[in-house]
Amino acid sequence: MNRYIPFGYEILDAEIKIIEREAEVVRNVYSLYVQGLSLKEITDRLNQIPITYAGNGRAWDKNIVKRMLENPKYTGAKGYPIIIPPETAELALKLKEEKVATVAKEDKPRLDTYRKIAECAICGSKMKRRHAGSGKRRRTYWNCSNPECDGNHHTFHEKVLDKLMTEVVNEIAGNMEMVEHNEISEFEKNTEIIRASNKMNEAIDNIEMDIENVIGKIMELASLKFDRCTIGSNTAITESIKQKLAIYPQREMVDGVTMSQIVKKIKMHPSKTIWVELINGKEIERKEKQDECCIC
Ligand SMILES: [Zn+2]
Repeated sequence: MNRYIPFGYEILDAEIKIIEREAEVVRNVYSLYVQGLSLKEITDRLNQIPITYAGNGRAWDKNIVKRMLENPKYTGAKGYPIIIPPETAELALKLKEEKVATVAKEDKPRLDTYRKIAECAICGSKMKRRHAGSGKRRRTYWNCSNPECDGNHHTFHEKVLDKLMTEVVNEIAGNMEMVEHNEISEFEKNTEIIRASNKMNEAIDNIEMDIENVIGKIMELASLKFDRCTIGSNTAITESIKQKLAIYPQREMVDGVTMSQIVKKIKMHPSKTIWVELINGKEIERKEKQDECCIC
């Protein structure tokens, strides 16, 4: 049974009257919403009380709650007796708009990161975000900004990009070994440094000190140490990636801020393949499976 009159009212003797026990529920819904509870949290609470929406045990759902918060009859429209003061309804509406704006804001870091680091895997030019169609058929995609490039004629759907990046970051967070680099071990490097250092000391101790030779040895040692520093700092970068991901939960949509902190470059290829280069230089390849259509 669907209600032909909004929850909280009944028609008695051809007059619209408030059902007090239902009106109380409406007031509570507004009050909880204004306090900051989500539609889902409010719905969960409603499903614990003995009053159902349509009287036949139909459970409360998010849409019913949403429509309740949008219904102008509760503030007296069309001659309905007032259940909700207009100020409260206005506040609820404002909150709802803010929530919508927050969702859009959450997308911003992700899109900004794509704009900054996404490049064409064919020519290396920046990728540009574009739209096609309108309404439900509106599509957002990325393509190469270089008009000369072959990649310019291809579109890379943002849904695919989001999906692949979400997978990659989730996967790394669940398996940190993926960020490791196969680099020369600290031990091997240290052995080389000790050897070079001994040679330098030998050259200095030599009574017939050949200054050219000593300088040569010093330079060799310095370059090894410098080299070691590079690798050392790369280890530090790898560590910083791991730290960033240590408390990263598996997400349904990749977090833009985290992505900007750990990814240096995303190369996109029309074959629906991306190469994700992390800030420590490690590259991860990911390809969209062909059998899963991307709603293109
Ligand atoms: Zn290109």
